[in-house]
Amino acid sequence: MIYYEIECITCKQLYKAAEGTALYRWYKEHPNERTMCPDCSQKIEKEAQKQFLG
Ligand SMILES: [Zn+2]
Repeated sequence: MIYYEIECITCKQLYKAAEGTALYRWYKEHPNERTMCPDCSQKIEKEAQKQFLG
């Protein structure tokens, strides 16, 4: 399997973006950018929802 290893900007863990996923394509197009791992982005999404719901 082909994948990129990307460092999460939040938890600094390496996570994998497997070929064929949206994340893989994103990283291919933006090799110098960093993003959050799925865990962190899920957490942030939940936090945002909590705030939204008040
Ligand atoms: Zn993370």
